[in-house]
Amino acid sequence: MEFVYDPENIFAKILRGEIPNKTVYENDHALAFHDIAPQAPQHVMVIPKGAYVSLDHFARDASAEEQHGFMKAVAEVCEILGVDDGFRAIANSREHGGQEVPHFHLHIVSGRPLGPMLAR
Ligand code: AMP
Repeated sequence: MEFVYDPENIFAKILRGEIPNKTVYENDHALAFHDIAPQAPQHVMVIPKGAYVSLDHFARDASAEEQHGFMKAVAEVCEILGVDDGFRAIANSREHGGQEVPHFHLHIVSGRPLGPMLAR
């Protein structure tokens, strides 16, 4: 699979500081910020700072340091949000996965019972 990254996507613009965001956590390799249209009481996006299109792109090509930094951000976000009652992590990927923004992102959603995993 060839992954082609569009540097004009909205999360790339957030990373370049061209669009504001409500930051929850940041480290050298990842940024976490509130989703602009939350689907639950808590809805945070975790994104790598590198140019990766999707989860499988990131898992294949990101360095160990980048992957560790990203997972550290996930852990910190869960701690900050206080997801003791549970949460869902979603990585919509490409067309069938319903991905709208072509920069890899993990949704962390929590704060209410989230229902079945997939709508039918
Ligand atoms: P996906 O469908 O998985 O690609 O999700 C894209 C997500 O990005 C949606 O939940 C949007 O609400 C969110 N989103 C789009 N623009 C922004 C923005 N400027 N700041 C924060 N979240 C955004």
